[in-house]
Amino acid sequence: MTTVFLDGQFMPIAEAKVPVMDRGFLFGDGAYELIPVYSRRPFRLAEHLRRLQHTLDGIRLANPHAEAEWMRLIGEIVARNDGDDQSVYLQVTRGADTKRNHAFPAQVVPTVFIMTEPLVTPPPAQREQGIAAISAPDMRWLRCDLKTISLLANCLLRQQAVDAGCVETLLFRDGFLTEGAASNIFVVRDGVLLAPPKDHLMLPGITYDVVLELDAAHGLPAEVRPVAEAEARGADELWMTSSTKEVLPIVRLDGQPVGRDENAVRPGPVGRRMYDWYQAFKQTVMRAGE
Ligand code: PMP
Repeated sequence: MTTVFLDGQFMPIAEAKVPVMDRGFLFGDGAYELIPVYSRRPFRLAEHLRRLQHTLDGIRLANPHAEAEWMRLIGEIVARNDGDDQSVYLQVTRGADTKRNHAFPAQVVPTVFIMTEPLVTPPPAQREQGIAAISAPDMRWLRCDLKTISLLANCLLRQQAVDAGCVETLLFRDGFLTEGAASNIFVVRDGVLLAPPKDHLMLPGITYDVVLELDAAHGLPAEVRPVAEAEARGADELWMTSSTKEVLPIVRLDGQPVGRDENAVRPGPVGRRMYDWYQAFKQTVMRAGE
């Protein structure tokens, strides 16, 4: 059975229980991270822990663990569970209060939960044929740079895609692309990679950073700047990126084929190369034991 970590102890998942007065349960008051693990090595762990710190600072919650302690706990969760490739989920909430009160409790004892699941990346058919997406107005709050557990808007937006038989929902705010319901979005136009800038309107994706690093390393022109909705709709290629989806081509948006060739609904060449670079980079990092 899966072993999880809750409040200082490792235990079987069936024994892990959180009090109903936990602010994570009552208010969605907490932060989380999801870290892919390849061949039992967490990928870009320091960067994930830095983003966790950014979220905790943003919601005014003291980090319950130093970086070295997080690394130790994550290493132990990975070791205690089956599978070489895993997806480690960690969550910190503001803990349990005695009353339901919006304002923070005086004594904050955060709840720390870590679990791991088998890492599920997109099936080859999705990668080879690409996926369909819809779009929707970005109706989330204005701190989308924080990876908080209050994910109701993201869940509603992702479900809208699923209801339409699609994989992801692209979000537009005030005429510009922000991101996906649970991914970052890249646009290719005329051989140039376009990416919305990291600001309060999108999550600073770890995969987003890797993609831009690989892009620079291979000399592909990139522009990190606001991307107009019309540019996204008229893209040669669209990709979604995340720790679990990696680099996944979007070939239909709102039922329209992506790209200029209306007869060819298939992933474009830049995305294919980026996917290969991403896989090669993972291998290099794992061999180097980063
Ligand atoms: N944006 C949102 C809203 C997300 O939920 C995620 C990850 N699930 C991402 C972007 C991608 O982030 P990462 O590359 O760090 O997985």
